[in-house]
Amino acid sequence: MTVVAEVVRGPWPGSVEFGARGEVTVAGVSLVEIAARFGTPSYVIDEADVRRRCREYKAALPGAEIAYAAKAFLCRAMASWMRAERMSIDVCSAGELAVARSVGFPAERIIFHGNAKTPRELTAAVNEGVGRIVVDNLAEISRLAALVPAGRRQKVLVRVIPDVGAGAHAALRTGGEDQQFGLSIATGAAGEAVARVLDQPSLELTGLHCHLGSQIRAPEPYETAVRVMVEQTARVRERHGVLLPELDLGGGHGIAYLPGEHGLDVAEFGRRIDRALRERCAARGLPVPRLIVEPGRAISGPAGVTLYRVISVKRGLTRTYVAVDGGMSDNPRHSLYGAPYEVRLVGRASNAGTRPVHVVGHHCEAGDVLAEDAPLPADVHPGDVIVMAATGAYHHSMASTYNLTGRPPVVAVGEGGARLVVRREGAEDLMRRDVGL
Ligand SMILES: *Cc1c(COP(=O)(O)O)cnc(C)c1O
Repeated sequence: MTVVAEVVRGPWPGSVEFGARGEVTVAGVSLVEIAARFGTPSYVIDEADVRRRCREYKAALPGAEIAYAAKAFLCRAMASWMRAERMSIDVCSAGELAVARSVGFPAERIIFHGNAKTPRELTAAVNEGVGRIVVDNLAEISRLAALVPAGRRQKVLVRVIPDVGAGAHAALRTGGEDQQFGLSIATGAAGEAVARVLDQPSLELTGLHCHLGSQIRAPEPYETAVRVMVEQTARVRERHGVLLPELDLGGGHGIAYLPGEHGLDVAEFGRRIDRALRERCAARGLPVPRLIVEPGRAISGPAGVTLYRVISVKRGLTRTYVAVDGGMSDNPRHSLYGAPYEVRLVGRASNAGTRPVHVVGHHCEAGDVLAEDAPLPADVHPGDVIVMAATGAYHHSMASTYNLTGRPPVVAVGEGGARLVVRREGAEDLMRRDVGL
């Protein structure tokens, strides 16, 4: 089997191999065999690739805390891999918290986020003893303080808006003014939140947090954020005489979705952020705070692929539609943001030449498109298996049961072969919640 070198650094897991007769393996496991054994559609995730990415972050940012953003993809296997890699975890709901805790993930390494945490979620976070809660609005400060049992202090970060615009799509930009996340420096809300937290004896402010957006592939926006955040940290010292020991720069690190693209260079990011942080802190006479970064997509995204089976091929007047047995219910990203994807035929060679097609799903929506103008062999036909790259983040976690379609299983691949870590959802699962009549 030959490895096609140029795609290895693209959107695929590092272990992918493309054979001359159309075989595709991930971590040495044949995708055709996975499709036969577990059915389609199926999510496949390469455990070693996920874990290697965690280590890459630790090597690039020695001394920093690396918190995996669970909203990208979480199941109990994933949480236990994160525990084994000594990562921290970001959660943003009681559900994500429960999954992380169910595998014994240490509460002190959990960071709880959310712009509208419910009282029930705040209670769960405090009761579980999460390491930090990220304050994202003024109302939750006294609410949170009241939940902390006597004799304990809850560590908190305050999420500020650094007003740095970055990210691949408007829906993915969260670092600028006038969106629902964080507290504005310009309006004084961020300063007010800091003062109120410092006024609560049951809360301990450990640092400021920001998150610029998602799919950011260059280090410059983060360098700008370091300047803003160090300046704000210095102001907290000036106004309150408090030295904040931590600085959380959020996540949003970009990955490749198409061949030839590149994601954020993690090693370069590490060097540049470290330098910017040292320089800015020296300029302001501050000790260098411990850095926290929160990659989600960059840990799980490229480690995952999705397998589909072709159900029909329809030649329209101007284009060809290849309809598969999944769609916007297992991958809403194309219909939400027009996200591009790489697809390939699996399991047979074709010398028919390639032709751009629209890969569409089986849902009753014209917007149920998975990939536009994707080059597939001209003889693609019903029964073929196709694989889509870079589906390890924001696919399973954003999946819905639209049209009462059960969500696909998650199959982990590694040295021991393939194993089911999340089973397929069937009609009986869907009906279990439906207590009507
Ligand atoms: C979504 C999110 C992340 C992770 O974003 P990625 O693009 O997956 O890296 C990190 N931190 C916060 C606060 C987030 O909301």
